[in-house]
Amino acid sequence: MSQPIRLRPLKEAARITQMLDLVLGADRFDRAPVDVIGLALEYSRQIAPESPIHEVVERNLPGCVGALVYGEARPRQWAIMYHVGQSDGRRSFTVGHEFAHYLLHRQLIEQDEGFDGGIYCDENSVDRRGGAGIEQEADAFTAALLMPLHDFRRQQPAKARVDFDTLSRLAKRYGVSLTAAILRWLEYTETRAMMVVSNEGFARWAKPSGPALKSGRFIRTKNTVYELPSQAFAARRDYSDRALTGITQQAGVWFTEPVHEMCFRSDRYDQEITVLQFEADGPRFQEEEEESDVFDHFVRNGQAPDR
Ligand SMILES: [Zn+2]
Repeated sequence: MSQPIRLRPLKEAARITQMLDLVLGADRFDRAPVDVIGLALEYSRQIAPESPIHEVVERNLPGCVGALVYGEARPRQWAIMYHVGQSDGRRSFTVGHEFAHYLLHRQLIEQDEGFDGGIYCDENSVDRRGGAGIEQEADAFTAALLMPLHDFRRQQPAKARVDFDTLSRLAKRYGVSLTAAILRWLEYTETRAMMVVSNEGFARWAKPSGPALKSGRFIRTKNTVYELPSQAFAARRDYSDRALTGITQQAGVWFTEPVHEMCFRSDRYDQEITVLQFEADGPRFQEEEEESDVFDHFVRNGQAPDR
């Protein structure tokens, strides 16, 4: 039986990141994103030769985007499954998330009766990074592994505003979806910004940067319906170049202050991604300024994965 894993997700991600930097070079992202499927197969064989991940396969998983499953035999043999039809970028994050469950939680998953043959993860837990507990840990690991902050920050400085050209380039650089790249940026930016994902004129979910939240700029989407302002690009179904570049909306449209709005429509997922960037600098998140990957919000909150 393998030893219990008590490492924090970010520490684990930082360790693999250092290893990849060493083997492939610190400039590896100039060439290719993390090959997360190859990594899961190879790394699991190294750390747990008796009980590795044998395959990463596409399956129909209704209601879920990914799963980490094991077979009857002991020691346990594992597989990662990802739901059919995911874009390469989404698949990458899904596989990373399940790989994280393997690294950090496989004993829990194997022993706890609440799990039956594996763990199944839904869109909220993976694509929106909206889960709690071990779901949050798996997302934190994956974001740190696929988009290391030391590299991301060089591409997009913490104090700089962003545009869709840069965000698309970053999504490509890290082999992730546009939303995953934006969520990563929102984690460390010192600007006041927000992403709103909507459909048919209503927000499905939204995520502010720390400084935006601190200055009271956020949108509630849980247990409530948020209708986009009628002037918003997404509400007007304006997906022109002008929407991609963005305009400044006056005070009173979104909030009681002006805000720069840009909007991108994804036909594949039938949703609009709106990025709002506020004009004036707001109060900053002092304690987040110079942190490395290892110090993320949930570690500060004391939610270490140790059990
Ligand atoms: Zn999960």
